[in-house]
Amino acid sequence: MSLRRIEEADPALGAFLTCDPGRVLERAERVDRDVKERPLPLAGVPVAVKDNICTRGLRTTCGSRMLEQYVPPYSATAIERLEAAGAVVVGKVNCDEFAMGSSTENSALQVTRNPYDLDRVPGGSSGGSAVAVAAGMAALALGSETGGSVRQPASFCNVVGLKPTYGRISRYGLVAFASSLDCIAPLGNSPRDIALLLGRIAGRDPLDSTSAPAPVPDYVAELDRPPGRLRLGVPKEYFGQGLDPEVKAAVEAGIRNAGKLGCDVVEVSLPHTRFAIADYYIIAPAEASSNLARYDGVKYGFRAEAPEDLMDMYRRTRTLGFGPEVRRRIMIGTYALSSGYYDAYYGRAMKVRTLIRRDYERAFEKVDALLGPVSPTAAFRIGEKASDPLSMYLSDIYTVTANLAGIPAVSVPCGFTAGGLPIGMQILGNLFQELPLLRLAQAYIREFPVAPPPLRV
Ligand code: GLN
Repeated sequence: MSLRRIEEADPALGAFLTCDPGRVLERAERVDRDVKERPLPLAGVPVAVKDNICTRGLRTTCGSRMLEQYVPPYSATAIERLEAAGAVVVGKVNCDEFAMGSSTENSALQVTRNPYDLDRVPGGSSGGSAVAVAAGMAALALGSETGGSVRQPASFCNVVGLKPTYGRISRYGLVAFASSLDCIAPLGNSPRDIALLLGRIAGRDPLDSTSAPAPVPDYVAELDRPPGRLRLGVPKEYFGQGLDPEVKAAVEAGIRNAGKLGCDVVEVSLPHTRFAIADYYIIAPAEASSNLARYDGVKYGFRAEAPEDLMDMYRRTRTLGFGPEVRRRIMIGTYALSSGYYDAYYGRAMKVRTLIRRDYERAFEKVDALLGPVSPTAAFRIGEKASDPLSMYLSDIYTVTANLAGIPAVSVPCGFTAGGLPIGMQILGNLFQELPLLRLAQAYIREFPVAPPPLRV
C-alpha cells in the first residue's frame, strides 16, 4: 500500500532518497509472522525516516555529499524501539543538509516538493518526512528538530508534528547538528498517531546521557480524557510585524476555537522573543562547527581524490563534501567560538538563552499552554529564499525558542490560505507536558477539523 503510493507519487514529490522495496517486504513478512506469536503495537505500520537518523545497513546521507554513500553499522535507539514494536521503515527521506535549513532546498541530493503546490517548498529541514505523511506514502514519520524542523514542515504540509521535550527521546543514532538542541521528533496525520509513536520511542536510554529518566505515560490510553478547563496564553510577541495576514487570521480563528473547548484564553508576554533568531543562529552554528569537525575525510564518508598532503586532503574534502549553507554555519560557529570572541558571542548567546527560558517559566506560572503561529507565512516558492539566508533564518522566529528552552510544542493544521496552502497552529507546553499538549491537539482536531483541498499528486 505504502510502496504503491511511493511508486505513484514520489517521482513528482521527491521525498524518498532510499527505498528498497525488497527489504521492506521482507521485513513486513517477518512482522506478519511475529505478530502471530506476540502482540506488536505498531505491527506493519509504515514509517518514513529522516535521513539523519541512522538505520543499520540502510544508507543514511544527511542530505549531504559528505555521507552520500554512508551505510551505518548500527541503528538509532528510536529505530530499534520502533522495529521492536513491529513498525516497518519504508525508506529514508530527504532533508536539508545536516538538517540546516527551513525548506529542504539545502539537500545536496534532490528537490522535494510540497504536495499542495508542486512549485513550493515542503518546509524543512524535515521536508521529506512531512511530505511522506501528507501524501500517504507513510503512516508516520520520524524527523528531527534543532530549531523548528518538524513543526514548520508539518504546518506547510497539513500534518501534525511534535517537538518533544529535550531528552524525551534518545538522540543515540541521530546525526549531531547542535547537541544541546537536537531532538528526534514524530510526524503523523493526527495527535493520536503521534501519541502511539511517542509512547514506543520515548524514555531513558543508557546510550544517550542526556535522555531523561522521567517516566513515559501511556499517551494513547490517556489521550481522550477531556483536556479540562485549561488556561491558554497567547504571546503578544507572536503576532507582530512580518506575520502574513492570512496566517494571522487562521491562527486567531484557531485560538478562538480552542477557547470554545472550555478553555480560558489570556494574553501573555515573552519579551525576549526578539533576540531569538540572533541567539539561535549563534548557538546552533557554534555547536555545529564542533560536531561537524569529525567529517575530515578520514573517519567517515567522502574523501577528496589525490590530495597533495594531509592539510590539502582536509581542506578539499570539506570544501567539496559540504554545501554552501553548511560551510557558512561552520564558519559562523568557528568564529563565534574563537578565542577573544567567545565571551562576546557564544557566552552572551547562552545568557540570552537563559532569558528566553525564563520567559517561558514565567508564562507557565500563569497558563497551561501557549498558542500561536508556527511560521510567519505558508509554504514559499522553491527558490524564493534560497539565495537570501537571512530571510530564511527569520522565518524560524516562532519555532526556535521552544528548542532554546527545551520545551515541547506541537503543530496542528488550522486552515488554508485562499490559494490552498496549509496553515498550522502551534501549541507549546511546559517541560514533559507532551500528554496535555497532545490531548488538547486531539480535542481541537476532533472539534475543528480542516477540510484540505485535493493533493496535486
Ligand atoms: N531552520 C533551522 C535551521 O536552519 C532549524 C533546523 C532544524 O530544526 N534542524 O537551523
